Amino acid sequence: MPEPRDDCLFCTLVREGTHVNAADGFVAIDDINPQAPVHILVLPEHHVDTFRDIEEFDGDEAARMLRFVADTAHKAGLTDYRVVVNVGPGGGQTVFHLHWHILGGRPMGEKL
Ligand code: AMP
Ligand code: ZN
Repeated sequence: MPEPRDDCLFCTLVREGTHVNAADGFVAIDDINPQAPVHILVLPEHHVDTFRDIEEFDGDEAARMLRFVADTAHKAGLTDYRVVVNVGPGGGQTVFHLHWHILGGRPMGEKL
């Protein structure tokens, strides 16, 4: 597992943030600028810049991360919701520590 990066906002929030869910290697926080009534971010402790680098996770870690996303949505009381990963600046990514958005609490509509 790489060391946390002192210059990374999400590495700091993994260590010091208010976590709405946590399990070994993963935390969830409320987004500071929610785009839906429920807007949670899932952060792996393991710093990788972007989803493009997902091969840096071994298969077990990647599977546990997906289960943690589903568990976090369940614990937030969501049955229907949207999961989004923005990849790279052109994909809307602004924080370069891999994270999953969970959006819900209202009908999300059929269009992105
Ligand atoms: P992205 O644009 O996909 O990289 O998402 C970054 C997300 O991080 C945005 O939805 C921001 O609102 C959110 N964000 C930025 N700073 C913080 C913070 N200090 N605490 C919680 N969420 C944050
Ligand atoms: Zn980081």
